[in-house]
Amino acid sequence: MPMCVSGDHDDLENMESLTMSSNIVESSSEEDSKENIKYGTRQSPINVVSHEIYRNKGHKVDVEFEDLQDGTLTLNYNSLQVDYEGGRLKYKAHSKSSAWKSAQFHFHAPAEHKIDGHTYDAEMHMVFRGECFPDELAVLGILFEISEDGEPNQFIESLRLGELSYPVDVKSKINSRISDVFNGKLKGEVINYLGSLTTPGFDESVTWFLVKNPIKINDAELKNLTKFWGNEKFIHCETGNARNIRQTGSRIVQKFPLQCHLNGNHE
Ligand SMILES: [Zn+2]
Repeated sequence: MPMCVSGDHDDLENMESLTMSSNIVESSSEEDSKENIKYGTRQSPINVVSHEIYRNKGHKVDVEFEDLQDGTLTLNYNSLQVDYEGGRLKYKAHSKSSAWKSAQFHFHAPAEHKIDGHTYDAEMHMVFRGECFPDELAVLGILFEISEDGEPNQFIESLRLGELSYPVDVKSKINSRISDVFNGKLKGEVINYLGSLTTPGFDESVTWFLVKNPIKINDAELKNLTKFWGNEKFIHCETGNARNIRQTGSRIVQKFPLQCHLNGNHE
C-alpha cells in the first residue's frame, strides 16, 4: 500500500540552488512579472531546456492502463475530453511513493509544452487525481508528431473523430484499446516539474510528467483532432487551444524512467 505523501517534492527544495544559476538567463520582462503576480510562479506549460534537466536516479514512474469501455467523449467548441478511470500512476521518489487515479484525458493542438523551443503537433493530457488527496493532480503529457509514412495511430482512430461534428455530437460513447497506442511506445523517460492547470483556474496543483518521446499521428488524424477548434486563437492561448509558455523560473525540471503496464501485463 503506497504511503500518502504530499505532491510537493521535499527533496527538490534542496536541489533548487543547483539550477537557479542556469535558469537566471531567462528574460524577466515587466509583463512577465505582472503575470507572475496574477497567476503565480509555478504555471504551465513551460519550454523544457534539455541541457538543464536534472537526471534523478532515485525516482521512477509506473503507469497502468486498462482499455476504455463505454467511455463518454465530450466535445466543446475548444476541447475534446474523454472520461477515463482505467489508469493509475505511481510516482516513486526513493523510499516515498504517491499514487493517483485517472479521471479524464483531453487534447491540445498544437502541443502546449515545448522541448528546446520545438512545438509538437499535439499533446494529450491524461489527468489523475490523488488517491489520498483528490485535489492534488498529476498530469501525464503525451506529445504527438506527424509521421512521414502516414501510418495510422490506432488509439486516435478508435476515438472515431472523423464521424463527429460540433455541436451535433456533444456527447458520444466510445470504446478504445488504449494499449494499441501505448503498447511499447510509452517508454523511456518522463520530464517532471511542479506546475499548474493550463486552462482557466490555472490552479497550481499539478505534478507534471511529460513523456519525453513523442508518439506518431498521421495527417488525417491531426486534421480530425483540430477541426473542432481549427486555427482559432482562444484567450490565454498562443495558437489553437494551446496556452502560452510560462516562465520556468527557479523550478526544478528533472527526468527519470517511465514504465507502463497494460491491463496488468508488464511492457
Ligand atoms: Zn490540458
